[in-house]
Amino acid sequence: MIIGSHVRFGSTQILGSLKEALSYGANAFMLYTGAPQNTFRSKIDSNLTSEAKKLMQENNISMDNVICHAPYIVNLANKEKEDAWNFSISFLKNEIRRCEELGIKYIVLHPGSSVKYTTEKGINNIIEALNYIISDDDKCMIILETMAGKGSECGKTIEEVKTILDGVKSSNIGVCLDTCHLNDAGYDMSNFDLFLDSFAKIIPLDKIKCIHVNDSKNERGTHKDRHANIGYGTIGFDNLIKIINNEKLKDVPKILETPYISKNDNEKELVYPPYKQEIAMIKKGEFNPNLIEEVREYYK
Ligand code: FE
Ligand code: FE
Ligand code: ZN
Repeated sequence: MIIGSHVRFGSTQILGSLKEALSYGANAFMLYTGAPQNTFRSKIDSNLTSEAKKLMQENNISMDNVICHAPYIVNLANKEKEDAWNFSISFLKNEIRRCEELGIKYIVLHPGSSVKYTTEKGINNIIEALNYIISDDDKCMIILETMAGKGSECGKTIEEVKTILDGVKSSNIGVCLDTCHLNDAGYDMSNFDLFLDSFAKIIPLDKIKCIHVNDSKNERGTHKDRHANIGYGTIGFDNLIKIINNEKLKDVPKILETPYISKNDNEKELVYPPYKQEIAMIKKGEFNPNLIEEVREYYK
């Protein structure tokens, strides 16, 4: 089982991310190379990177299972303000270089929101931008995340993702499935083999390079995109376990992006990462009805 979560990338960069992942019992992890909400990025420290590589070897963690996520504000679909669109392009080009420095092979990207444009126009903007960004010489691949279809998000159907893949000239492009997004977009996650069969008719399964495993706070087809802890949402524990253990995607890293836990039921602020306990529950294959309490107990 290749399982991990998104982890922080602080002053100790990928070394800190790795140590956090190890503390959760993970053998995969996903990081933003800075804050998820902004594009300020510090210089990659090669000493920290080589120390991390050594520690990864000692712990048998493959670089294939380390994923980068591009910040949310990068939007390739909206060309209304050309400056912003051009900035997104140069940011992603630079992010590919940074990932190459870190040795990371995959960057997850939200395809983008078309805002005032039609989805069709938005998708054309995405394709045009990606053809500026990616080349076959890159050692890092951009993988497009399937989206919930909130607002004007592009990439909410397999067909939309396929259109983008077809328009990109380089083969350095793949797909990241997100179970919460797929559910909210209207796909049935209760029979994943059936879903994969219909997916494979449109996009070859070997294009899938990462799976975000999240439960959903909302019913199928609501286009909301609110993640829930594993087994605490509408997809449910058994369905998510079957996805994680699916034979066809067994070599694809599974990444949790489930919400942090508050200190108590009256507190709104989410402060405790649930990943150690969630990963333990997933490895055991048995739903833990006391997950929230155990996380609180652990960090108290
Ligand atoms: Fe994402
Ligand atoms: Fe996701
Ligand atoms: Zn999401």
